[in-house]
Formats: sequence, structure tokens, C-alpha cells
Amino acid sequence: MTERLYYDDWRRVQFGATVLGCTQYQENASLWAVELDQTAFYPTSGGQPNDQGWLGDAKVLDCIDLEQKVLHILDRPVSGKVEGLIDVSRRRDHMQQHTGQHILSQAFVQIADAQTCGFHLGVESSTIDINLENCSQEIVSKAEELANSIVFDNRPISVHNVEQKDLPRFNLRKQTERDGIVRLIEIADFDISPCGGTHANSTGEVGMIVIRSTERAKKLCRVEFLCGQRALNDYRQIHKSTTATASMLSTTRSAVPELVAKLQQEQKTLQKKIRELLEIALHHEANQLLESAARNSSGLRIIQGCFAEKDIEEVKLLAHILVSHPDTVALLSSSKDSFRILFARSASSNQVDCGKLLAEFCKTFGGRGGGRPDFAQGGVQNVTAVELQLALEELANRLLAQ
Ligand SMILES: [Zn+2]
Repeated sequence: MTERLYYDDWRRVQFGATVLGCTQYQENASLWAVELDQTAFYPTSGGQPNDQGWLGDAKVLDCIDLEQKVLHILDRPVSGKVEGLIDVSRRRDHMQQHTGQHILSQAFVQIADAQTCGFHLGVESSTIDINLENCSQEIVSKAEELANSIVFDNRPISVHNVEQKDLPRFNLRKQTERDGIVRLIEIADFDISPCGGTHANSTGEVGMIVIRSTERAKKLCRVEFLCGQRALNDYRQIHKSTTATASMLSTTRSAVPELVAKLQQEQKTLQKKIRELLEIALHHEANQLLESAARNSSGLRIIQGCFAEKDIEEVKLLAHILVSHPDTVALLSSSKDSFRILFARSASSNQVDCGKLLAEFCKTFGGRGGGRPDFAQGGVQNVTAVELQLALEELANRLLAQ
């Protein structure tokens, strides 16, 4: 049986121990599984990840809770008496997130009568699932406010080892099914709940608690939060990006959202204006094409054009303008982003089937296309702009000869 030293003080990151067993790790033959008479290494349990660190020269990569004993997974074997050293920044980080969760869970109970049903301590952020279907921004703000006031109070956190029969004396936030002695974590005049994790000695050690987001998770609400160093890191990152954005916009940080909304509106107005001007330009271009177009013996105008600078949407707009005039067939292409072909004809010119014509045209270049008799689109590959232009000219000449 391993004596667990981490129960007493999260700050205990150095200890001496005797190796009781050291064998090759079953899951990975290059690692070693070590049992000690006592340990300050916290094994993964209760939603809190394990500690890491060193046993002598050996690296402690993982720590597993086997009820009666704690298994340390090492990168090399150890024997005899060893000095244990725990990665203190990882330990502090876990302590902050874990204790912060106790505070936040009680805050949601007091603000919205919402119980915590699940906790996950992630690498970047942590989450609790609370039984609240509609978690409003107001509830979130109030819970965050209350949680931080408990932190700022720097209330003492104490541990009680209590027998099952004495549990009813305590107003526990959640019940436990654990047998034997139960470990209770009490945040003075605020929260008391059973837990086996590593906790702060007072709430001030947790540091600031921030709620980053909430989302519906089935009938629960998932609350994402950060405590202590993580909250500070997040603040620094946000500060950096908002300051950079504000500087680009020559404004203050707080004025950024309003200014961006204004810029978005201006962008929309400009896009509309560009579209209007584009239509004017395309009408002008269409008129020139219509005037100079040759007609075949039945009076059908055949307009052919290859556009390298126009995207397919512009070409489409031009085609619609062209075929709004009677007796007109437009054979157009865009090579701006890729080779796209568009055939269209006016409603009156039913002697031409654009869909059929385009399908055949694309097929000769190993491409695909088709559509209605009056409007069809397609695409081709493995062709040069010159080859495409020549093929379209040839088709136009064929239609003119009809
Ligand atoms: Zn806990």
C-alpha cells in the first residue's frame, strides 16, 4: 500500500521514498513501472490528470491509481532509496484548475441552483457540465463574479477526513459513494464536497477565474473556464491581438467592435456600388459586342469571347445582358481562376441547343458541362487559353455558316 503524501499539501513537491518494486511496464516494454512506500505524485483520478517529474535520474511520465497502490511509469529503472521531485508548474496548474472548479461549481449552485454533473481538466481549458438548460449571459456573469469574490477573499481551504456515519453532519454539495474514510474539502463558509484531488490551501492561490464560453450539451450546459496562470496567459494573448487590431484601426481597444461593425457596413455598401458600376461597364461592353457581332443567314448574332480577367460570375452577368437581346447566341469563357465555359442564347433563338452544344464542346477537351437549351455551363482542363480560344472561334464560325 502506498502512502499518499499529496493529500496533505499541494506544495509538497519533494520527498524521499523506498522502491518496493520495479518491473518492465506491461503496456510499453521500454518503460518501467515502479511502486514506492510513499509518494507525493498525484495519479490520474477524479478528472484531474497525473503529476509528472523525476525519481532520481528517472523521468516520471505517468502515474496510475490502482486503489491500494500508486504506479509510477518511468523511462528507466530505479532501486533502493530515491528522491522524488514533482514538476511544480504542472502541479500548480492542476491545483488551480481543480480548486477553481470547486469554487465555480458552488457559484453556479448559489446563482442558478445548477449542480455540476461533470468535470474535465483539459490541456488548454477545463469544462464543467451544469444541469441548466438555458444558461444566460447574466447567470454566467453573476457566477463568475461570485467565484472571483471568493478568490479575492482568500478564504482558507481545509481538509476533513470523515467517517461515513458522520457525513450527514456536513452540507455536502455532492454526495459520495465512497466506502470508509471520506476526504472532504471545505472552502470556508462557501463549499464543502468530497474529493481526492490536490487543492489550494486558500482560495487566493487559485488566481482569477474566467468563463470563456458556454454551449448546450444535451440537456446540460457546458461551461468552459480558465483559472490562475491560464487566465493570465489568455488575457495576455487577447491583449496582444486586440491591441494589434486597435493599432491597425488607429483606435482604442474598447472601440474596436464598433469600428469593425462600421467597416463591415461600409464594405457591404462598397460591394453594392461595385456591383452597380460593374453592371454599367458590362452593359457598355455588351453593346459594343452586339454592334460588332456577325450574323448568320437566319439573322442569328454569334458572339464569342474569351476573358482572362473576368471571373465566371462576371462572364455570367455579361451573357445575361447579351442574350436579353433577341437573336443572340453567346459563346463565352473565363480563364481567370480555371477554364470555365458558358453558352447562352436569347429565348427567341431556339434553333440552338446550348446544353447539347456545350456538353459536346467540353467532351472534346476531357471536361464536363451541360445545362438547359438556353443556358449551359461547364469546365475544361488540360488546355491552353490559346487552344480554347481557337476552338471557340471555330465553333462560332460553324454556327455562322449555318
Ligand atoms: Zn477537488
